[in-house]
Parts: sequence; C-alpha cells; structure tokens
Amino acid sequence: MKHLLLIIAALSIPSAYAADCQSDRVKLQILGSRGPEFLDGRASTGYLVWLDGKARVLVDAGPGSARNFAKSGANYADVRVMLLSHFHVDHVNDFSAYVKAGFFTDRTAKLRVFGPSGSRLASSAGDFVQRQIGKNGAYPYLSSFIDPEAASSYKIDTTTIPWSEKNLEPSLVYRDGDFTVRSVTVHHGAFPALGYRVETAGCVISFTGDMSGRLGAMPDLATGSDILVAHNAIPEDAEGVPALLHMKPSYIGKMAARAGVKKLLLTHLMRRTVDRQDETAALIRKHYHGPIAFPDDLDVFHP
Ligand SMILES: [Zn+2]
Repeated sequence: MKHLLLIIAALSIPSAYAADCQSDRVKLQILGSRGPEFLDGRASTGYLVWLDGKARVLVDAGPGSARNFAKSGANYADVRVMLLSHFHVDHVNDFSAYVKAGFFTDRTAKLRVFGPSGSRLASSAGDFVQRQIGKNGAYPYLSSFIDPEAASSYKIDTTTIPWSEKNLEPSLVYRDGDFTVRSVTVHHGAFPALGYRVETAGCVISFTGDMSGRLGAMPDLATGSDILVAHNAIPEDAEGVPALLHMKPSYIGKMAARAGVKKLLLTHLMRRTVDRQDETAALIRKHYHGPIAFPDDLDVFHP
C-alpha cells in the first residue's frame, strides 16, 4: 500500500502540466540576478511571475529587488503571494521595504507569505515576519500589518512550511483559480530552504533557490518545467563550504535534463562564477541540450 501511495504521489505532478502552456499570457521577470556580494550593481535574488499583464507571484525579496519591482511597472496591489526560499539576507532583506512601500499603494487585499521552518541559524517564516514587523520586532511601527486587532490598509498572512530531510515529497503550498504553487525540501547547508514550482495558464516555472543538490528532490519538482531558474553560485572546481551550500554546473545540467526542462535560466551569480559563464554553459550542455541564458535584472521571459 505504501508503494502505491508513493506512485500516486509521483504521478500527481505530471498530470498538472498536461495542459498546453498559454505562453503569451505568462511572463517571468528577473528582479535580482545576483547573490550576496558587492559585485556589479545588480540586485540580489528576486523574481516576479506575471499573468495577463498583472504581477501575481513574487519569489524572494533580496536587497535591491524591491527597487527593480518598482522599475518593472508592477502594481503591488496585484501581488497575491510572496514565496521565500530561505532566510539568508540576500533572499529576504527587502521584505519590510515591500511591506512599507505597499502602504502607499491602493492595496487592500491580504498578502500571503510562505517560507520554510527554522533552525539554530535561521528564522522560520513566521518568526522572520514577527522579528521584522512584530510588536517586539525591528520595526514595531509596522505591526498593524500582522495584528488582527489593529487597523491597517492591508494584512500580511504568513505560512511556515515544515522543512524536513525526512519528507522529500512535494507539498501543495497555495492554490487559487489561476495559480498552483508547490514546494520541496532542498539542502542548503545548515539552512532550511525550499524549491518552488509555480503553475499558471498551463505553464510551469520552477525555482531552485540556493541548494546543494544533496537531497535530490528538486529535479522531480521541476519535471516538465517550461522555465527552470537555477542558482549558479559556484564553479565546477568549488570545494569546502561553498560546495556544501551550492550546486555545481554539472549538477544543474543533470537536473535540467532529468526534469525535461524547456528553458534554463542561470542566476545568483557570484564573483567566483560571473566571469566563467562560457565554461558553466559548456559543462551544463554535456547533459542538457535546451536553451540556456544568464539573464540581466528586469529581463522578461515567456515560458
Ligand atoms: Zn543566496
């Protein structure tokens, strides 16, 4: 019986992308294509999924990504969901900036925020939001956004997704009439981290976030993705701590091939990878034969 359940679980994702991707309705925009360094002036991690001309799903909120959100022309009032991959500074530091900037928009709808559970070194999603904008947080003047008793123009509703190395099955995180979001546990050193899969209008866009590949669940989550956004934070010859935290180009190539990805975008480049893009692409092409791009901030891709 257990085996049967596993088979059903494995089949549940492929059935979801049987629909044809209505590519002209969907856009992925890069809000931040770099990692945590002072490097070349680009923003840290952030992505935006548009449907029918409206910005609906935000993925990560790294430093500078909120500024690029403004440049993108997106309306914050349209955003339904913010998906946070993990609680390193380069992925979440603009969170409070979004909350406050949102006060000056016409937003009234609740913003749903998702992220993983915590560890000794990392906040959980719920704790992170409390520690930012809770009454005892860094910015208590913003606590009305999460206090049900207080008046505020809109509310933040945070969900902590349990992270466990023992559960590598995809989780259904969010669903509305237009979007389905799933997450999976990924390995990123001592930091609980999630990969995400966003489905809309028959299209699939997946995000690895930062991950080493050690737990192996991300390729299944990304199966059949029209676009996979993978983080290219280390070169093939990386050793030590960086190699414990991040995946090598050969792993990215194997993952994209196994998942049958239609387009691969490489982001979160760092000083150690930014000048080695030709080498990285060649290593990936040994395994994966679809299109590869190293996008700039604000670049737009149709699935
Ligand atoms: Zn990072």
